[in-house]
Amino acid sequence: MAGEKRISLIQTPDDDEAGSDKIIKFDDTDELPLIAPIFSSYNDRIRPVLDAVDRLRNLAVMDEGIELPTIVVVGDQSSGKSSVLESLARISLPRGQGICTRVPLIIRLQNQTNPHHDPELYLQYNNGEVVHVKEENTSEAINLATETLAGDGKGISKTPLTLVVKKKGVPDLTMVDLPGITRVPVHGQPDNIFDQIKDIIMEYIQPEASIILNVLQATHDFSTCESIRMSHSVDRTGERTLAVVTKSDKAPEGLLEKITANDVNIGLGYVCVRNRVGDESYEEARYREATLFQTHSELSKIDKSMVGIPVLAQKLMQIQAKSIARNLPDIVVKINDKLNHNLVEIKKLPKVMKSVAEAMTTVMRIIGVVKETLRKILLRGEYDEYPDEKNMHCRARLVEMLNSFSDELMNCPGSDRTRNFLMDEIKHLEEAKEIALPNFLPRTVFLALLREKVKGVSSVPIAFVGKLWDYVEEVVITVLVSRVEDYHQLQLSTRIAGLNLIEKMKERSLNWVMEAVEMEKITDYTCNPEFVSEWNKFMAQRDTFMSVVNSVGSINIEGFGSVEVVNAKPFPQHLHDAYDLRMRMAAYWRIVLRRLVDSMALHMQLSVHKLVNEELEKEIVNELMAPHNGNGLERLMEESPSVASKRAKLASSIKKLKECKEILATIMNRIATSKGG
Ligand code: GDP
Ligand code: MG
Repeated sequence: MAGEKRISLIQTPDDDEAGSDKIIKFDDTDELPLIAPIFSSYNDRIRPVLDAVDRLRNLAVMDEGIELPTIVVVGDQSSGKSSVLESLARISLPRGQGICTRVPLIIRLQNQTNPHHDPELYLQYNNGEVVHVKEENTSEAINLATETLAGDGKGISKTPLTLVVKKKGVPDLTMVDLPGITRVPVHGQPDNIFDQIKDIIMEYIQPEASIILNVLQATHDFSTCESIRMSHSVDRTGERTLAVVTKSDKAPEGLLEKITANDVNIGLGYVCVRNRVGDESYEEARYREATLFQTHSELSKIDKSMVGIPVLAQKLMQIQAKSIARNLPDIVVKINDKLNHNLVEIKKLPKVMKSVAEAMTTVMRIIGVVKETLRKILLRGEYDEYPDEKNMHCRARLVEMLNSFSDELMNCPGSDRTRNFLMDEIKHLEEAKEIALPNFLPRTVFLALLREKVKGVSSVPIAFVGKLWDYVEEVVITVLVSRVEDYHQLQLSTRIAGLNLIEKMKERSLNWVMEAVEMEKITDYTCNPEFVSEWNKFMAQRDTFMSVVNSVGSINIEGFGSVEVVNAKPFPQHLHDAYDLRMRMAAYWRIVLRRLVDSMALHMQLSVHKLVNEELEKEIVNELMAPHNGNGLERLMEESPSVASKRAKLASSIKKLKECKEILATIMNRIATSKGG
């Protein structure tokens, strides 16, 4: 924890007994420094640390989620925020009625110790652009900069602006001035101005490392201040809130009671001030302030440690020093953590291929891996790479598909032996009548029946082929995508190759299956002895059938079950042959279906085998080399836009964090040696 590693880097003014009384000599209004010499030496010690923190701030280390100790000035509109900052910096800031501060203004004050140096002021934009300004033009320069950031209306912006003031006698402090809180939008302001301002303020005061400088007006009831409400919401106990009470000159009565009662829970105490009024010079203002708190009947009762801009300056420096000391170790840890995390992240990103040779090697390696995986799941039935993904256990799924294909064929209406019993046969026999001897069974009738039957089921194997390749496609693409994940271009090419290839294979299979169906239509042939034995078994029942057919409505035939004969009775001349035809077909049809299923299984095996072992590699290489896609392998060296931007982001963050680390290392080193010495 940060608290345990507490560093005592600065001898705070508190540590010095004579400190607070030495600050001001009231009779000397000429070139009166805001901080006494004793604090100058204190400044010398804090400055490098503060500098380091400011450099971190400039590097926008906050964007990396690292909180920096920051003094944030909040207050209701016209409470006197800018006036307080002016008094501290002793320069003119945009000030007055209405909303003046429309962007977060980071003010870095640096005491210039060399008396021969002129004051140096410049504005620094977020993008690093620096604009030097003359002291007397600061106000206009800030207004101008505000306009470029937040437009020339009355709108506000989150983009911060930094004002650096290097001047003799100013305290080394970095503070952020924020837009004043206003409930009611004025003309030209968006309706949600309150929420916008609140968002900005909350963003700055939320971090635990922020010190809240709450600017309250003596003229107001503190408990009704919006700024109090906001600081309470993030710092209930007030342990990181300091109150500065402005306009003490306007409402001196009861001020002592107000700050003593501390109804609004200010943990770091109150400082009552009187800012510059009108055209007063800073020296004049300081003198009047001091006189006011010394001579006013009410105000003089307030303890001297709670009044005046110089006291405020001291207090802020102390608080700032403590806050930095408290937070620095934590910042060092966080920056290191973040840096390490980013270094790991950037290593995890896919490698960039630097040459065609490297790209080629990568492609070959990936093809090898893909082929091995496909071999495992499609050919060998090993699914250790996908233990929980049932869909990738391809052997089992393919067998299941084949089984249901077979079931579908066997159970379709066309395969029902009893359907239309003898009626199909009679219909064809009627049409095949010839002037010829009666006891020849016409083969043409059998073939016609066969053709009709085959046609009836032909959609089943065709649909099966479609389903089969859809499944294989899913599997192949899944494997491809997962294995080439890291390589954007390769992913595109292999995907296209995979899809093209499956499309081709599917077409081939369709041609094959249509041919198989066609073959079944053209010839009735089998060398399977089962045909004859089945047929004989059925034919043995023909005499019985013929003898009872006229006297019953349905007959039980072994191998068929009960069959309807009512419709066939009116065709006694055909019954004999029709029975034979039906029995031949029954015996043969089973063989036809089995032949379809068997050859489908073999075809499937062969196709998948070819796909995995030969075609896929060829197709991918062809696709990669295809001239229509530009320069083939070289394309592979391009990164996907998302990876490229992630890499760039990480690289810039790493660079930034390394810089921060260096800055911190130097400063921690310095602290260590100064403590030792
Ligand atoms: P901001 O909107 O909070 O930045 O407030 P400003 O600093 O612009 O101050 C608002 C008005 O209050 C200005 O006219 C200041 O001159 C005036 N003002 C600020 N502080 C004091 C003070 O201590 N005494 C007097 N009399 N007027 C002050
Ligand atoms: Mg202001």
